[in-house]
Amino acid sequence: MAVNGTGPYNPDNIFAKILRGDIPCKKVFENDWVLAFHDIAPKAPVHVIIIPKKPYVSFIDFSKNASADEIAAVMQSTGQIAADLKLEESGYRVITNAGQNAGQEVPHFHLHLLGGKALPPFPV
Ligand code: C5P
Repeated sequence: MAVNGTGPYNPDNIFAKILRGDIPCKKVFENDWVLAFHDIAPKAPVHVIIIPKKPYVSFIDFSKNASADEIAAVMQSTGQIAADLKLEESGYRVITNAGQNAGQEVPHFHLHLLGGKALPPFPV
C-alpha cells in the first residue's frame, strides 16, 4: 500500500483472510454486507472492528466505490453494535486510519468502535 493509503487492494491482507475463514475472529455481528469482530489487541474495554465484506483499501476507496446501500449498511451496523453493547451509557468513539501516516496496519477499510471507559482526549 502506498504511504497515502492509495494503491491496489491486497487480497492477502489479514482481514481478507478473516473474511475467507482462513483465520478466526471473535465475531460480534454479521449481515450480507458487514462483518464485525472484537479487536485482537483491544485499546479499550470495548474495541470492535467493523469491515465491509467487499474489498476496499481505505475510507476514500469505500466512499467512492461502495453503493449507497453498502455505505448505509456499514453505518447502521456500527450504530446497532454500539447500541447493543450499551455504549450509549459509557460514550464511544468511531475512527478509521488510512495510510501509513495515520497508522493503518491492515489495508482493508475498517472502522474501530471504542468504548466502555472514559477515553483519553482525541486522538486515541
Ligand atoms: O487501523 P489499523 O489498521 O491500525 O487497525 C488494525 C487493527 O486490527 C488493530 O487494532 C489490530 O489489533 C487489529 N487486528 C485484529 N485481528 C487480527 C489482526 C489485527 O483485530 N488478526
